[in-house]
Amino acid sequence: MADLILFWHRRDLRISDNLGLATARERSPKVVGVFCLDPDILAADDVAPARVTYMVGCLAQLQSQYQMAGSELLILQGQPTQQIPQVAVALGARAVYWNRDVEPYSRQRDTAVAAALSAKGIEIHTQTWDQLLHAPGDVLTGEGKPYTVYGPFWRTWQKQPKLAPVATLQNAIGLSQSERALAGAIALPSAQALGFTWDSPLPLEPGELVAQAQLASFGHRAIEAYDEQRNFPAVEGTSLLSAALKFGAVGIREVWQTAATAYEACRSDEARTNVQTWMQELAWREFYQHVMYFFPELAQGPYREAWKDFPWHNDNAQFTAWCEGRTGYPIVDAAMRQLNETGWMHNRCRMIVASFLTKDLIIDWRWGEKYFMQKLVDGDLSANNGGWQWSASSGMDPKPLRIFNPASQAKKFDNEAEYIRQWVPEIRHVDTGALVTGKLSPLDLAGTGYVAPIVDHKKQQARFKELYKQQKSKLESTLA
Ligand SMILES: Cc1cc2nc3c(=O)[nH]c(=O)nc-3n(C[C@H](O)[C@H](O)[C@H](O)COP(=O)(O)OP(=O)(O)OC[C@H]3O[C@@H](n4cnc5c(N)ncnc54)[C@H](O)[C@@H]3O)c2cc1C
Repeated sequence: MADLILFWHRRDLRISDNLGLATARERSPKVVGVFCLDPDILAADDVAPARVTYMVGCLAQLQSQYQMAGSELLILQGQPTQQIPQVAVALGARAVYWNRDVEPYSRQRDTAVAAALSAKGIEIHTQTWDQLLHAPGDVLTGEGKPYTVYGPFWRTWQKQPKLAPVATLQNAIGLSQSERALAGAIALPSAQALGFTWDSPLPLEPGELVAQAQLASFGHRAIEAYDEQRNFPAVEGTSLLSAALKFGAVGIREVWQTAATAYEACRSDEARTNVQTWMQELAWREFYQHVMYFFPELAQGPYREAWKDFPWHNDNAQFTAWCEGRTGYPIVDAAMRQLNETGWMHNRCRMIVASFLTKDLIIDWRWGEKYFMQKLVDGDLSANNGGWQWSASSGMDPKPLRIFNPASQAKKFDNEAEYIRQWVPEIRHVDTGALVTGKLSPLDLAGTGYVAPIVDHKKQQARFKELYKQQKSKLESTLA
C-alpha cells in the first residue's frame, strides 16, 4: 500500500508548478492536500474582506483540481500546531510536506508545527522555496551578506539560472471512506461565514485556471508595452496578477517562463525593454521577501534609524479623510476610492497616496500600511511593508527624501483626468486642467459635495522637510 503523504497548502493554492507538492507526489501517489483556516490570521485586525473572498475562491477551485487529479483537499479549522499533527496522526500519514515562507509569523508557526510532528514520529519535508525563483541566501553580495539595496540585488538575481515549471499533480490517490471519516475535515466555509463580506467584483477572479489564463493573455499582449503603459492608472497596462502571486494561484516558475518566452520572441530593443521592466517588478517582489526574511524586524517598524521616533502629526480626522478619499486632492481621492471599491489600487497611485499620507499629512506610514492591509486583495506583508517604507523614506531606498507632488503626478500619468473622473464622479464635469492640478474653484465645487484641499501641499512639504532635517541632526548629535 502506498504511503500517505499530507501536503499542507498555505500560500500556494494550486496543483500546477508547485515545488513541494511535486516533490511529495514523486515520493508517493497517495498525496492528500490540507489547508488550515487559522483563527490567529483570520481574527487579526488587518484582514481584508476582498482578500479572504479571493482566498476562499482559490480553495474551492483547489478542491476541484485535487478531485480531478484523483485525490482531495481537506479543510481544517483551528490552530495549525494542533490541527496538522492531529490529522496526520489520525490518518497514519507517513510525512507532511510544505513549502517555506519568509514571514515572521509563518516561520514561527512552522517551527512549532514541525516540532509537534517530529514529536509524534511523523516526517517533515519543508526545504522547498516554492513562492520564489531564488531562495533567501541564494542571492548575496560578494561578502556573502544579504542585499539591502534593490539595484545590485536585481543585477545578481537576474543572472542566476531559474528553474522551469514543475509537474502538475496527477494520477494521485485520495483517502478511503473510512479514512475520510477520521480526518475531522470541515466543508469549505464561504468568506461570509468566516465573517467577511465582499460583494464587488474582484480585479481577477480566484483560482489557478483564471490566473493561468490571465498570465497567458498578459504574456501575449500587454507585456510588450508594459514599460510604456504601466504608469497610467486609467489604462489596464499591468498584469493584475498580484493576488494570484500572493496566494500562489499561479506558480512563479510559470510566470517567469512566460516572461522569458515573451523576451525571446521580441523583435526590437524597445519590446525587450518592456518585458525586462516587468521582470524587474518580479525581482522587486523577491527583494522585499528576501529582506523580510533577513530583517524580520522590518515588520515592526522603520529600517532607518532617523525614523524610529519621527514626530508624526497623526491627525485622526485627516487620516479618515485620506482613507475615505475626501482630501480635496482629486488624484489621491480617486486612488483611495479605487482601493475601497475594488480591493486593488494601481501601483502609481499606491506611491502617490503613500507619499501624500506621509509627506503631506505627516501621518505615520504604519497607519497607511495597516489600512492597505485591511483593504487590499493582494495585501502581502513583504510587498506592502516594502512599498510603504520606500514611500515614507524609512526603508532601504538609497534616495531618502522622495516627495511626490500630486498635481505633477496627475499631469504626467492622468493627463486627461480619465482616472479621476472614473473614481470621483461628482466632479467629472469640471475642466480637465482643474481636475489634474487640483485647483478647483468655488464654482467648480458648488453643489458637488466635494471638499476643498484639507492641506496645502507646498506648506506641508516645507514642514516635512524641516522635521526631517531636525530629526536627522538630532540623530547625528546622539551618535556623535
Ligand atoms: C505603498 C505600496 C504598497 C504596496 N502593497 C503591495 C501589497 O500589499 N501586495 C503586493 O503584491 N504589491 C504591493 N505593492 C506593489 C505593487 O503596487 C503591486 O504589486 C501592483 O500594483 C500589483 O498589480 P499587478 O499585479 O498588475 O502588477 P504588475 O505591474 O503586473 O507586476 C507583476 C507582479 O510583480 C510584483 N510587483 C510589482 N511591483 C512590485 C513592487 N513595487 N513591490 C513588490 N512586488 C511588486 C507583484 O507581485 C505583481 O503582481 C505596493 C506598492 C506600494 C507603493
